[in-house]
Order: sequence, then C-alpha cells, then structure tokens
Amino acid sequence: MATSLLCVPPPQGLLRPLAVPERLLLGPGPSNVPPRILAVGGRQLLGHMHPEVLQVMDEIKAGIQYAFQTRNQLTLAISGTGHCAMEAALLNLLEHGDTALVAVNGIWGQRAADITRRLGQQAQAGPRDGHFSLCFMQGLVRHKPSVLFITHGESSTGVLQPLEGLGELCHRHGCLLLVDAVASLGGAPIFMDQQEIDVLYSGSQKVLNAPPGSAPISFSERAREKMLRRKMQPPSFYLDMGWLANYWGCDREPRRYHHTAPINSFFSLREGLAMLAELGLESSWERHRANCAQLCQGLRDLGLELFVKEEKARLPTITTVRVPEGYDWKEITSFLMDNHAIEIAGGLGPSVGKVLRIGLMGCNSTSSNVDRVLLALRDALGRCRHSRL
Ligand code: PMP
Repeated sequence: MATSLLCVPPPQGLLRPLAVPERLLLGPGPSNVPPRILAVGGRQLLGHMHPEVLQVMDEIKAGIQYAFQTRNQLTLAISGTGHCAMEAALLNLLEHGDTALVAVNGIWGQRAADITRRLGQQAQAGPRDGHFSLCFMQGLVRHKPSVLFITHGESSTGVLQPLEGLGELCHRHGCLLLVDAVASLGGAPIFMDQQEIDVLYSGSQKVLNAPPGSAPISFSERAREKMLRRKMQPPSFYLDMGWLANYWGCDREPRRYHHTAPINSFFSLREGLAMLAELGLESSWERHRANCAQLCQGLRDLGLELFVKEEKARLPTITTVRVPEGYDWKEITSFLMDNHAIEIAGGLGPSVGKVLRIGLMGCNSTSSNVDRVLLALRDALGRCRHSRL
C-alpha cells in the first residue's frame, strides 16, 4: 500500500502555467517595463560579490548621482521598494530624542510620520495643505526638528512641491532636509546638491521603468556626519547605512557581504538608469511636461475638472482629475481595465473617492498613450453614468 507523509497536496494553481495578461499600466506606478529592461532582468545570475556585479553596482551609483544631480559618495540602491528607502532614511537619521517635522500634503507625509513614531521618535506635522510654500519657519523654530520630511511629487494628489530655498532654510535651523522623489524623479527637475537636499530617495518602478524592488538613495555629507555621530546603532541591521555603504563601496574599505543583493533587480535598475542617461534628464523632463500638458488639455476637452488648479503645481508624472458628478470612480477604473486593458487608479489616502489618477511615466509617457487613455475615458464616460443618479 502506497503511503505518503504529505498531508498538503501540490497546489493546483502552481501546476498551471503563469498567466500574465498584456496591460497598459497608466496608474501611479508601476509603469510598463520596456523589452530592453525585461531582457536584462532575465539574464543568468552571478554571485553577489562577483566583480561584474560590483561593477554593475558602481554603474548604478553613477546613474543615481546623475539622476539626482549629486556628487555624494554615499549613494546606493536599497534592496527594497520606496517604503524601504523611506524607512532606511528615517531610521538611520533619527535617534533617541530627535524630532522629525513632517510636511503632510498627502499620504506619504502620513506614512513618514507613522514610521517616525514606530521608531519611537517625535513626529510633528508641518502645514497641511495641497501645495504649500515656504511656511516652515514656524515649525523649525518651534519644534527644533533634526529632520524635515517632504514629498516632492505627491502621487496621492498629483501635486509637485517646490523645493527652492528649503534646504538652505533647514540648514540655518540646524535641520536636515529629507525628500521623497519616488513619483517625480526623472519626470520633474530636482537638483540634490544645488537644492541642499540631505537625503533623497526614489523607486525603480516609475520613470525608471524597472520592476519594483530597488530604491535609489543618497546622503549628503551633513547627513553622513549625523549618522557617524549616532550614540546607538540604527534599529535595523538590514537597513544599517554603515553596512550598506561598505557593501556599495562607499567607504573605501574592502567590500564585505551584508546581504545577498537582488542581483537581477540591480541589472534592471542599471538598465533603467542607462536609458535615462541616454535620453538625458532635460529631455526626460520635457517629455513628461509635454505629454502631461496634452493629457490635461484632453481631459478638459472631455469636460473633466483637473484636481490641481495651478499649472505649475501639477506633477508631470501623475495627473489627478475629479471624479465627475454622477459617476462611481470604481466603475470607471474597472471599465478601462475590462474593456481597454488600461490601468488607471482611484484616489489614495486623503484623495480616495475624490479623484482618478493617470500616470505617464518614463517610456509610458508618450503622445499615443495620451490618445489611448483619452479615447478609453470618453468611452467610459458614455457608458458608466451611474444608473441610480
Ligand atoms: N512615495 C511616493 C511619492 C510614492 O508614490 C510611492 C509609491 N506609490 C511610495 C513612496 C512608496 O513606494 P513603494 O510602493 O515602492 O514602496
């Protein structure tokens, strides 16, 4: 009699081939991965300490320095998504007794405040507004924060936050400036060194068109000094910047094993950065500006109302439009997915139920994709009017 020790059978789903439909990803990220990046992600593995992989890491570092416009030595990619970089920045910078001033202009400020509190540090909310100018002075004087957190491209509201003068202001008050550019990098100008940003991070899956899973980050000399002055080790081994700096060859010491890097994700990130370097930052910014402008005009022509009124406050990578009267946002997004194989998204956090979000990032930012999504939306508006209203 055949006996088996197994009481859990092989799952049926795994015995079928993987199914991945074709979709145009025009939500707030991830965006589609072009064939060139897909191809490098599928290359054979090498060891995480092999010289060729260390070389790829050096090239990634140089690519991030270009994308961020920084000469910071402490520049690398975190093995994780944008949240992981946010957490890495906060847990390495903050220590006992520190306060972070967090500009809450959407969900990412909320998340940064949440992470700060979980670390046991104080988070004071900065001004709450859609698009706020330099009214941070009061917060800096009152709370004496050691870090000010702000999101450059608020993907939940579609607002682009101006950063001019903010780094200088922070430094006059002995505070470091930490900026989230996950949704904006490569789509809107940012100049880490000139704008005196102390920590800047982004993600692989938006304008860089690589799969999610790696997150560029860079630390200024001021930020590095603060980390060196820490009395206690950071509360995470995996995200300890001392270890990561060594693994990434940023400290002139021989590189030591810290963790097994997601090597194929690094191949993809390298290629995404290479494509940005080939196109050039200025051309990339202009491409995002022009396609966003075409989209905004098309949305207005459909009778839709843009959520961000002021043109210069609009994030060129993600456009938000009010859910039109008499429509259910979910029906519209589902209609586009089911009938046009296009993903767009509803709101997130404070914008839930209020907006639809349309992303045009990296290779997805094309005039023909604008036409495609406008055509699909016209179709949806004709067919989805809520019957009960
Ligand atoms: N910050 C911003 C501005 C984002 O848009 C996102 C992702 N939508 C994140 C942080 C978090 O990134 P991830 O989902 O890669 O963890």
